[in-house]
Amino acid sequence: MDYNSYLEQRKILENENANLVGNVINDSEKKVDSLLNNYKNAVYSENETDRLFKMNLLSNDKLWESDLYKLICEMPKGADLHVHATALVPAHKLIGFVKTHTELLVDINDGHIYHIDEETYNKEKCFTLSEILDKGMLSVADIEKKWSMLGRVHNQNVWEYFENLLCIFESIEYSYDTLFDYYVFAFKDYLSLGINHIEIHAVLSEDREKAFELTNVIKKAYFAVKKEHTELIVSIICAGLKYLGVEESVPKTYLENALWLKDKILDDFYPEEPHRFIIGFDLVNEEDKSVPLKDFAPLLLECREKYPDFNLYIHCGESLDAQSDNLIDAYLLDSKRVGHGMNLYRYPKLLQRYAEREICLECCVISNQTLKYTKDIRLHPGAEYLKRGVTIALCSDDPVCQEHEQLCDDFFASVICWNLNISDIKQLCINSILYSGVDSKQKSQMIGNFKKAWQEFIEKYSKM
Ligand SMILES: [Zn+2]
Repeated sequence: MDYNSYLEQRKILENENANLVGNVINDSEKKVDSLLNNYKNAVYSENETDRLFKMNLLSNDKLWESDLYKLICEMPKGADLHVHATALVPAHKLIGFVKTHTELLVDINDGHIYHIDEETYNKEKCFTLSEILDKGMLSVADIEKKWSMLGRVHNQNVWEYFENLLCIFESIEYSYDTLFDYYVFAFKDYLSLGINHIEIHAVLSEDREKAFELTNVIKKAYFAVKKEHTELIVSIICAGLKYLGVEESVPKTYLENALWLKDKILDDFYPEEPHRFIIGFDLVNEEDKSVPLKDFAPLLLECREKYPDFNLYIHCGESLDAQSDNLIDAYLLDSKRVGHGMNLYRYPKLLQRYAEREICLECCVISNQTLKYTKDIRLHPGAEYLKRGVTIALCSDDPVCQEHEQLCDDFFASVICWNLNISDIKQLCINSILYSGVDSKQKSQMIGNFKKAWQEFIEKYSKM
């Protein structure tokens, strides 16, 4: 082979393996792409390589100051399809919320939040957050450490630490007034980051009445914000528990509650045009310590049969175990999307099927990093999936303890570690809308809003 033929062959192979996303971009977008390149190069050159690709965004405040991070925060992002209830806003923002809610007390030892009417807290150790900060009992940095993955000490079991962390925030649900305020605060914050649609994966309650009340609080908060921001759309994916040892009746109860709720509570902001508010079902917990998905197949198959338009959005493929094959079950159960789907690369034929059926992977790179599934985000399989035509959308999972700015951290990490261009980024945003669980009318509304916001964003940055 002569060198010219070699180069020709090389071009063919390069194109065969290029990202399959790839929007056609206009001249203004090309300008923003070249700005994006400059911003990326600045980050590459100003940061120590090994540390950079670990993307410890929670502690690396130098990265928040970068032009790239600021651009990403400002960029319209479409939707966040995978975020858990009461984990919506990052710890540093939650501090502001808890400070202004004096009915909430914080335990100075473990950072646990309690409602003042609860009887379970130690009065000698629990105070309002203003009192704690004003009297110097703890600093803002101390609180952030107690409320996030920053506080984990080396070799501490990561899932055990993480699940204990999530318990800290449970009492936000104790009073429905507080909970209402929390969701209003969270929804406004998402909008300020260019996220117009949120799909909340919520483990509501085994108690049907309580599940009903909790859902209504979220809906009330959603409508309160939507009055001023009609672009906002919130949906709930009811989640059940699947950890080993959970009684067989428990996931069944959660599923039955979800099916009951979907008809009881609608998104009727425009009463003449109601939409689903409860859009599907999920199962959560640490996958490798949970009942395998195939054991739930009889229950879920029956649900698919009786309610074919009630979708599954199942957590699976969040595992380092080479034998973990729950993704086969998610495929057979016709899950619309899967939470994570990280280990799909272990099953090349299945990967092809996921690509063909366009089952979207909710790709949570920062969560995967903080929970130790990837040390170096350059090696995260999400980059691979983009090239192989598997549909992915970036999602934030548990911003409260994992992120500095919800979803922005995931975009920043992916742009830097996977070297994404403006066309890839745009496609990821569009995917988050196309593969969301809302109906076609809501989707076209979201696409319209996104296009407008994207154009304004491109307009502004193309002139810089
Ligand atoms: Zn999750």
